Amino acid sequence: MSEQRALVVGNWKMNLDHVEAIHLVQQLGVLLRAHTPERTDVVIAPPFVDLRSACSVIEADRLNIAVAAQHVNPAESGAFTGEVSPGMLKRLGVQSVIVGHSERREMFGMTDEIVNTTVRSALQAGLRIILCVGEGHEVRESGSAIEYVTNQINNALDGVGERHYDQIAIAYEPIWAIGTGVTASSEAVSEMITAIRDILPAGLKKTAAVLYGGSVKPENAEELIVLGRCDGFLVGGASLNAEQFVQIVSNVDGCYGKNR
Ligand code: PEP
Repeated sequence: MSEQRALVVGNWKMNLDHVEAIHLVQQLGVLLRAHTPERTDVVIAPPFVDLRSACSVIEADRLNIAVAAQHVNPAESGAFTGEVSPGMLKRLGVQSVIVGHSERREMFGMTDEIVNTTVRSALQAGLRIILCVGEGHEVRESGSAIEYVTNQINNALDGVGERHYDQIAIAYEPIWAIGTGVTASSEAVSEMITAIRDILPAGLKKTAAVLYGGSVKPENAEELIVLGRCDGFLVGGASLNAEQFVQIVSNVDGCYGKNR
């Protein structure tokens, strides 16, 4: 799969207002111009209120950064107070959306069924998705992490047609590693990434980037790519710092391809 590109996605979560977002995108632009990745795509996922500002800076400065939302409601319109639809994101200039992040699943009642409806609706609207899956500590301890995560993926992708395969990336994020400073070992990441690739339909296996997320930093990026055998990262905390985020992108870009 040497022609496949790596992917690094920065999930800003509920951080930075639109003025701060403009500043961070400008900083990313300067640093990425100095360290242009050759085989790595870069995506940022700011809060909803920052999306248009981020898109405007990227368009004006012709930056090679794509913009993702962190969540979307599957409905096209209607009485869903506080929500936004896939069509609204698309018309705003947003290319991708994170679906099923563990924080949405745990704090906002996002079940596997809702994840599946959201995945299908976002794909239908022409958005790319970063589908998040991952087990909690208890599941990991019980020894059923692979079964748990592969079930999450099968449920999320149920009914998704082949024509959408090139819109899909998957992020394996063990919940116990998110925002904790505890990174999964490269052996555990490699085992899970391999198990995920094994259950994907042939067409999707060819195109889908399978990412790791959970306390990724510049210092552990290379090992997680080479030994963890992932196609890139979903980065939380470190994506709020332009230098660290671009360093992660550069480290991925420097070693991606040596692991396949
Ligand atoms: C995340 O929020 O998806 C994440 C991986 O966060 P962090 O990198 O901070 O662990």
